Parts: sequence; structure tokens; C-alpha cells
Amino acid sequence: FHGMEVDKMDENDWKYHGEGNKSLVVSHVQLSRVLRLLKYPAEDSENPPQTAEQAFRQIQNIVDFSSNVMSNLLGEKFIHSGEVVKLPLEFVRQLSIKIQHQRPAWRCDKVMDIYSGCALCLPNLTSPALHQPTHTPPLCIEIKPKCGFLPSPKHVSKDIKTKVCRFCMHQHYKVANGKWKRRSLYCPLDLFSGNRQRMHFAVRHLVEEPQNNFKIFKGGQCIYSSKEGSDDSPDLNCLLHHLRPYFMYGNNRINSHMTSKAVLSDFIQVLVNALLSGGGGDGGGLTDRRGESRSFCEASLFNKERIRHGSQGLPSDSVLFRILQTQMLDTLDIEGLFPLYRRVEQHLQDFPKERSRLQIDGPYNEAFLEKLQKCSSEDDGSVEYAAAKVHQYRVAMTAKDCSIMVALVPSAEEEDDDEGQRRLRDFRPPAFSCSVSILDLDPKPFESIPRQLRLDQKIVSCYLRTGGALP
Ligand code: ATP
Ligand code: ZN
Ligand code: MG
Ligand code: MG
Repeated sequence: FHGMEVDKMDENDWKYHGEGNKSLVVSHVQLSRVLRLLKYPAEDSENPPQTAEQAFRQIQNIVDFSSNVMSNLLGEKFIHSGEVVKLPLEFVRQLSIKIQHQRPAWRCDKVMDIYSGCALCLPNLTSPALHQPTHTPPLCIEIKPKCGFLPSPKHVSKDIKTKVCRFCMHQHYKVANGKWKRRSLYCPLDLFSGNRQRMHFAVRHLVEEPQNNFKIFKGGQCIYSSKEGSDDSPDLNCLLHHLRPYFMYGNNRINSHMTSKAVLSDFIQVLVNALLSGGGGDGGGLTDRRGESRSFCEASLFNKERIRHGSQGLPSDSVLFRILQTQMLDTLDIEGLFPLYRRVEQHLQDFPKERSRLQIDGPYNEAFLEKLQKCSSEDDGSVEYAAAKVHQYRVAMTAKDCSIMVALVPSAEEEDDDEGQRRLRDFRPPAFSCSVSILDLDPKPFESIPRQLRLDQKIVSCYLRTGGALP
């Protein structure tokens, strides 16, 4: 596959790249490719929870869900679904030994799947192929934005859920439970607002407390992220040292005393521009003007006075707009959805064979997409209606959990052309060509829904007990 021969795989060609809760990623040292391998709980390491065929099916389901369902909802231009590959077991074993010591300790409650030999092969979005090795390496920024809207009061039992967003409440819960030492002041409603000031504010707080919502890569290497369990903030000075050369242009190059504040601010501005762009360059689309009024989180420290004057909303071709629209397929909130989940569950207990007709575990094909798109707005009491709402909810969950990767490739230097002159006069930011992708689009299992309800209850009650009172 793509310049690699599966039977000649050599672990020395691959290095540790990163991991999440469900998968571990290694990148090729030369080609712009990654392998994404499944993980499972360390307790099961001797005893894999599924057969090789089931692992293959699971990864094929991820590919199908991404290419047939999520890509339709989010926009093909942002999606790289990849392909399932079968790897030699000896290669996978050697690879897992090789990378083990680079894994963060707090992720080692899970182990990499070394039994199935199956993996997902994807383009490496942190080292885009368009970058020429002789030039300045691309900067790639990964943002896990989380849920960008408040649920409707119709379906929630606690008023607070219509005032404070899920992410902000969850922060209190995570700090109370020792997962993080400090609360992040990032609020997704600010990022999804489409208002440049609010977005700038949101990204600044992602930089200050990245947790698992923000990472920066330079030339394919992670140069900025949070270390979980550590008391220290990530090294902002080190980041500024990396960023400075990218923002020494025009006026700044002449008097090279660009302050750190200005470097950071320019960086955030470029990132916000990329998030508002059409994804592959320019061309402004329509704007969702209703966007902003419905979405204010009372926990956000953004000073509401500052934005009273004018707001833009999100351009409809932007990555944030597409993600938000997909998240909003969760129309009932977990509380409103749960009775429908129970209806499906009950039906499946009575008629287990219906599981495949209702496509509970796939296949994730056009029929699945149609089921969730053609779902009627009225509940007719049928299991089909309930299943369609569950499908919608699961798709929304995936959109609430995905990451955005923004690749910034500095444009070639052309100091003496018109563009350069103009930039010098107007203090314009440097030109980057940007590309935007969405990653981590796995289907969320049907069975995870009861857990979602319990977690929701815990987060809300923790917030009502402690959070609202804190500054
Ligand atoms: P989560 O816990 O967020 O659900 P996950 O286990 O599903 O994560 P991913 O988010 O897909 O795993 O991958 C883990 C990390 O690996 C990502 O956060 C990203 O930094 C990196 N990564 C994943 N896919 C790619 C890719 N195609 N190119 C470059 N880096 C990638
Ligand atoms: Zn919030
Ligand atoms: Mg992820
Ligand atoms: Mg994931």
C-alpha cells in the first residue's frame, strides 16, 4: 500500500507518534503515512477481547463510517478515511516493544493490539506531503473542540445544562477527580461562535491549558502538549521559541524585537483564519448569522460586553460550521434520547435478529446515512424512529469527539514582489497555505449510551455541588 510492501515491513521505518484512549499511532520515518492500531485494557493483554476477524471488521467499520457517513455530513474535503491493512504479526510485536518506552505512563492502562495484525493506514496529517523538505517545516495544530452548543431546555431536567456548557462543567468534574490539576478556561462555545475575538480568546486558553484538546506539531514532531498528571504547565517559552521564526515578517523582520505577546497573537490569528476559511485556501461562503445568539456559556470568562457590537457567525463552508451542524444532530440531549435507547434495547431483547436490519452495529453504508437523515420529526412510537434517533445521537457523539488538524505551510519567501511590499506597509500576517482536516471519526458503540447518561448525571451534580460556587 502506497509505496510500502506489507511483507517487507520493518519496525525501524516507524516511530511512535501519539495515542488516544482507543488507538495508538505510529508514523513512517520517510513517507507521509501513519498506522493507527487498536488498544485494549492491559488486564486483557494475554487475552485479546476479540478475534483477528473481529478486529478487521471493527477497523473496516471505522473506514466505512468515516467515508460513507461522516464524510457526507462533514464534507469530503476534510476527511481522509484511510484503509485497513493486514500486517505481519512479527512486525507488530517488534513495533510494540520498540515504542513502549515512549508511551506516556498514564496511557499505559491500555496495550497495543499485537494479535490481530490489523491497522488503519492513513495519510500523516502532521507532515503533509506538499511540504518540501528544504523549506521551513509545516506547523500543524490539532484541536479537539468538543461540544459547541447548549441543549434545548425542552429535554433537560437541570436548568444549569441550558446555561453552562458540557465542557465547562466537565472541567470541574475532572479537577475534582484529580484527572487534571487545573481547570482549562477554554470554552467550546467561544470557539464555535464565529466571532474572531471570542475565537481568539478560546484558542488562547487552549494554549494555556492544552489538556487533551490542543497539540502543536512542527515537521511532524509534537512540540507542544499537556503532560497529564504533571503539575507544570507546558513550556510556553519553548513554544514561542519555535513559533517566532514563522512570524518574523515585514515590519517584524526589520526591528526584530517582536514581543512574545505579538508572536502568540499572530499565531492565534492565523489559526483562527484557517478555522474560518473554506479549508483548502480562500473563498468566503455564506455566514450563519443566527449562530451566535443562541450560544453563550455562563461559565466562559469572555467578557460579553466586548462582543455586543457585531458578530459574524460561522461561514457555512468552514470546518467548525460543519462539525457544529453534525453535533447538533443530538437534538434530544442524552436525557431525551435515553427512553428511545431503551425502546430499541427492549426490542432487541425480544427480537435479537432485528439488530442487523436496524443496522445497530453497521454496516455503515448509504442506507445507514439515509436512516438518520430521513428520520421523521414526530415520534410515531416505532422502533425505527427510536433507532434513527439513536443513530443520530451516535453520529453527533463522534462529531463531539473528533479532532481538527490545521496544517500551516509557510509560503515561499518573495521579499521584493508587490505582495511583500504591501505586507510591509500593512503589517499583514505572513502568508501560509493552510489545509484543514478532521480526524478520529470512529463510530461510538450503541452500548455506550447508558454510560453517557450516568456520566452526564455525575458531571451535572458535581457542578451543582461545587462548580457554580467557584470563581
Ligand atoms: P481519542 O481518545 O481522542 O478518542 P483515539 O484513541 O481515537 O483518540 P486518535 O485521536 O485517532 O485516537 O489518534 C491519536 C492521536 O494520534 C491524535 O490525537 C493525533 O495526534 C495522532 N493522529 C491520529 N491520526 C493521525 C493522522 N492521520 N496523521 C497524524 N497524526 C494522527
Ligand atoms: Zn463553556
Ligand atoms: Mg482523538
Ligand atoms: Mg477517538
